[in-house]
Amino acid sequence: HREYHIVVLGSGGVGKSCLTAQFVQGIWIERYDPTIEDSYRKQCDVDGRQVILEILDTAGTEQFTAMRELYMKSGQGFLLVFSITSSSSLKELSELRDQLVNLKDDPHVPIVLVGNKSDLEEDRAVSRAAAFAVSSGWGNVPYYEASARTRQNVTEVFVDVCRQIMHK
Ligand code: GDP
Ligand code: MG
Repeated sequence: HREYHIVVLGSGGVGKSCLTAQFVQGIWIERYDPTIEDSYRKQCDVDGRQVILEILDTAGTEQFTAMRELYMKSGQGFLLVFSITSSSSLKELSELRDQLVNLKDDPHVPIVLVGNKSDLEEDRAVSRAAAFAVSSGWGNVPYYEASARTRQNVTEVFVDVCRQIMHK
């Protein structure tokens, strides 16, 4: 089986660990230790091909720039996650994306923009239009609204980024 390295990035509290747990284990975890940074393996079907995803769930290592560079270099595809309930969490992704493109020296590095917590519509602080504006500014990267709680688009975001790597 082919193996692909996916890195999940974004501010603390946006739901990176919950999304990863839903995808890898199919479970909803209400409280996940925010300091745990770990990687997980999951076999999945992408367009009829069995592939293995090695997923790194990052945990706010922004103080350690060298470490961030390491996992950005080793990753092949990236989920850039914000929460639709926090506009600052979307703003913070632009710096990450710039750093990623510079490090990879590739404006077409496989990225999916994920607006998580879509189940919290009543607390929405980022409109779909605002998120789409960001994703098109990044060269039309796909934008999905997802919910680790309801599983909406959880598989889809991982499969999309995997597909981008496969077709690169
Ligand atoms: P991380 O710091 O990015 O890894 O964030 P976590 O995955 O630990 O989630 C932070 C908090 O947001 C937790 O209290 C979760 O219960 C909550 N959370 C995560 N994803 C969702 C979601 O899709 N919907 C809702 N309602 N809460 C979520
Ligand atoms: Mg976490």
